[in-house]
Amino acid sequence: MIFYSLTSLIFYIILLFMTGLLFGTAGIPRSAKKDGVLGGLARIKELGLDAMELEFVRGVNMGPDQARLVNIARKELGVRLSVHAPYFINFNAREKYKRTASVNRIMDSARIGALAGATGVVFHAGFYLGDPAKKVYQVIKKEIRPIIQQLKRKKINITLRPELTGKASQFGSLDEVLRLAKELKDISFCFDVSHLHARHAGKYNTAVEYERVIKKIRRSLGVRALSQMHFHLSGIHYTAKGERNHLNLKDSDFNYRDWLKVLKRNQVSGVVICESPNLEDDALLLKKTYMSLK
Ligand SMILES: [Zn+2]
Repeated sequence: MIFYSLTSLIFYIILLFMTGLLFGTAGIPRSAKKDGVLGGLARIKELGLDAMELEFVRGVNMGPDQARLVNIARKELGVRLSVHAPYFINFNAREKYKRTASVNRIMDSARIGALAGATGVVFHAGFYLGDPAKKVYQVIKKEIRPIIQQLKRKKINITLRPELTGKASQFGSLDEVLRLAKELKDISFCFDVSHLHARHAGKYNTAVEYERVIKKIRRSLGVRALSQMHFHLSGIHYTAKGERNHLNLKDSDFNYRDWLKVLKRNQVSGVVICESPNLEDDALLLKKTYMSLK
């Protein structure tokens, strides 16, 4: 991580000493009383939640002026912000113009996200398209490396977080995102724990498996990584091929209670973004469950 200002250094030090998890929604809570991101941030605070992810999934639909206003509101309310980059990203695309468009979509998300005060950009890095996974890993790594350099050059202070994805056809297994974070150093990853469960058709749903995963992260990236985690979580419907669609937690088999217990036991810190269809209801359920754990 590189520090461009004293403020970002201080923020980083605060992060290091911050323990525990923050909870928020993927996008604007459904019960927001006012339109737009500002109404969403106000509702997050009102509900007693802590974070929100800006969903740029169909395109970066925010200009620099609005992003600056969002940052002012975010700071006042004390809400942690992150960004989800557009779905139309594939660093393994055959066509050069598609790869270039993917770079631009990440750069736009990062630029606007940083102006809005977001700490990370989450994205799905690409599809295998029938290529061997080892080859795709190298292709994707080669495409992401210059983006990190571009962000540094332009002094855009935000962490790239390739996401652990839910389908076997999508690049982004736990091993792949961990290896990217380890080898590219200045990036991290988004740990979508429901995707991990769906990608492996129902595995990773017990405390023993969760403990193993935490150990693996600690071994690959060091203990510091566990103090700056970014999670996605929801109920999930899956088949043998992986993710089908998101569900509310009560309609799914996802063992969120044990997952939260393992995070608490291992003193994992960071943000949990809830992607259930009912957004804030499950985000609050997760927060209440976490807070009630001894
Ligand atoms: Zn995602």
